[in-house]
Amino acid sequence: MKTGFIGLGIMGKPMSRNLMKAGYRLVVFDTDPAPMKEVTADGAEAAESPKEVAGKCDVIVTMLPNSPHVREAVLGENGILEGASPGTTLIDMSSIAPLVSREIAGTLAEKGVEMLDAPVSGGEPKAVDGTLSVMVGGKKEVFEKCCPVMKAMAGSVVLVGDIGAGNIAKLANQIVVALHIAAMSEALVLAAKAGVRPELVYQAIRGGLAGSTVLDAKARLVMDRKFAPGFRVNLHIKDLGNVLETSREIGVPLPLTAAVMEMMQALKVDGSGDEDHCSLVKYYEKMAHIEVNR
Ligand code: NAD
Repeated sequence: MKTGFIGLGIMGKPMSRNLMKAGYRLVVFDTDPAPMKEVTADGAEAAESPKEVAGKCDVIVTMLPNSPHVREAVLGENGILEGASPGTTLIDMSSIAPLVSREIAGTLAEKGVEMLDAPVSGGEPKAVDGTLSVMVGGKKEVFEKCCPVMKAMAGSVVLVGDIGAGNIAKLANQIVVALHIAAMSEALVLAAKAGVRPELVYQAIRGGLAGSTVLDAKARLVMDRKFAPGFRVNLHIKDLGNVLETSREIGVPLPLTAAVMEMMQALKVDGSGDEDHCSLVKYYEKMAHIEVNR
């Protein structure tokens, strides 16, 4: 049996290539013909719809932008549900609202189709290297069956809990990343305005308690003014929207996340929505009338 892959964007394209490198025969679908051409040139079989993918595969991976796209590809017309047979498994690796993962899994279960929510962290570089971190929600036996597929794209695959738990972990991840980028931006803008070289401040603090993966991944990009995505501001706004929607539903005030969400909205209005999320520094630079350079 073949493996399905739906959503061949910044993340999905390299992830599908890693599956092929690991020996999986893929049937792929994307609404955009451009990445379809590239991935089929590498050996994948093209499908006309998610329904066709589901008819040919017993495991299907989705890597789509947000909840409405996953709902559409799974439950919509010509969607996965129409083509899937009992025993098919959907691994949704998109970052979506946990409550939507639960709702989709519930509908699939009525037809005997299993689902894992398995969002990732690591961004495009780790998608290319096949070293993503995957946080998974679902039944243990389904997780164990699908582990080899996920491991072909990942450095770490952790079962966090029942369906929806993967996306709860991802929301927690996105809070930490957003707040780190904001803290880094404040620190580098302060250094620049004080006339101290941001590069040397970065070198001085990265080995201490303030050092972090975010600082190492993003400080250089900011100082070199490299804002091509990476992870788009618009996608982080989407994730923080899911964070705040979920936190309101379950009663958890998140004052810092709410503040960073508003900064990202301001950046989007200012035309930076398709830039990397480290362009958050520009929000601070405008207020302080200074630019962070090495
Ligand atoms: P992207 O916008 O680059 O890719 C999404 C792809 O899905 C596009 O090719 C689009 O044409 C396709 N698509 C949209 N609707 C579709 C549908 N109904 N049927 C079939 N294809 C459809 O996004 P991305 O950066 O690859 O992100 C995908 C997911 O991974 C998002 O949930 C994102 O939050 C998450 N993520 C992204 C990163 C990153 O660094 N880019 C990191 C971790 C997680």
